[in-house]
Amino acid sequence: MTITNIQLNIIPDSRGEDTLEAEIISGEYRVTASVPSGKSKGKNEAFVLEPKKALEKFTEIKSQLLEKDFSSLEEFDNFLISLDGTPKKENLGGNLILVLSLGFTKLLAKADGLELYEEIAKISGVKAEKLPLCLFNLIEGGVHIHPAPNGAGLPFQEYLYIPQINSPKESLAEVMLVIRSLGEEIHQKYEHLRQGDEGGYTIPSNDPLVGLEFLQGQALLRLARPGLAENYRLGLDVAASTFFHDGLYLVGDKTMGEKVWIVGDDITTTNPESIKIAHEKNAINAVIIKPNQIGSVTETIRAANLAKSFGWKIIVSHRSGETKDTFIADLAVGLGADGLKSGCPLQEARLVKYQRLVEIEEKWHI
Ligand code: PEP
Ligand code: MG
Repeated sequence: MTITNIQLNIIPDSRGEDTLEAEIISGEYRVTASVPSGKSKGKNEAFVLEPKKALEKFTEIKSQLLEKDFSSLEEFDNFLISLDGTPKKENLGGNLILVLSLGFTKLLAKADGLELYEEIAKISGVKAEKLPLCLFNLIEGGVHIHPAPNGAGLPFQEYLYIPQINSPKESLAEVMLVIRSLGEEIHQKYEHLRQGDEGGYTIPSNDPLVGLEFLQGQALLRLARPGLAENYRLGLDVAASTFFHDGLYLVGDKTMGEKVWIVGDDITTTNPESIKIAHEKNAINAVIIKPNQIGSVTETIRAANLAKSFGWKIIVSHRSGETKDTFIADLAVGLGADGLKSGCPLQEARLVKYQRLVEIEEKWHI
């Protein structure tokens, strides 16, 4: 595939910070792609180049991208990776390489007449036949919130509500009811209703268990559809590396094991090498996949396939600073992932990704 033109823009993300958007044209096909950014990051994540500098770098390499005929996504990504020439993409920036890689994947889908998730499945060697569970972040803490005026805020970053149905449509309808009840409960108790970076509610308490109590409490029991509401699980983003000893997670005198998904994120950073190390240490049984941690779609697919070969669960995730690009929803379906974690659907950049899953579900059921 040859590229006719590429326009790189700077757009605001959901936090109002600058990020990159690429518009890429190949003959009659035109696509746009944009990249998110994280705040709680692993130390091995791909380097994020300041967007204005990325524009300068892009101007330097643009003609080389327009001259070549790329026969595959891997060839396109490898070309950019070799132009960069550094292990963490410090030269071109993981954000610049990824925005081009996302766009190129979308172009391939158009040229092949496929849905984006079908193209990703084709590249990954996966049979896309499963819809992921939705992991909704309803209560926020940690570095994603501004503490209340009295300084209080939950120390754990995410309290996830996870309907146990592989129907994004039903999950989304259900979670909207939960969110409404939850908002009422929090407001009633604290006369406070604020949202964190991902659209989930904040709670003016420093006790990490309070978030869990809210998700298990009265709010859910009063739901209009009690049958569904019984069938959910909870998730936490707790920085668990702080209580990992000798191959076991110790919480008080209890160990966490088979029933629990212990999910690697900052220790694995969607990086095959780090994933191998986590496997050797038997540290996790599930992994977060975030394309911008590694900085290209090809490497993202490689990381996910490796994790799957270990029998791990796969959760595709957004970042705390997001755009309206819905690529990760297609990625989750195309990789055959077990879950999609995309924040709280009260925020548009999060909602559109769940809605894309609903769109795919509707196509499948027609
Ligand atoms: C996360 O930690 O899973 C997350 C989505 O936040 P961030 O993008 O800040 O890492
Ligand atoms: Mg994080």
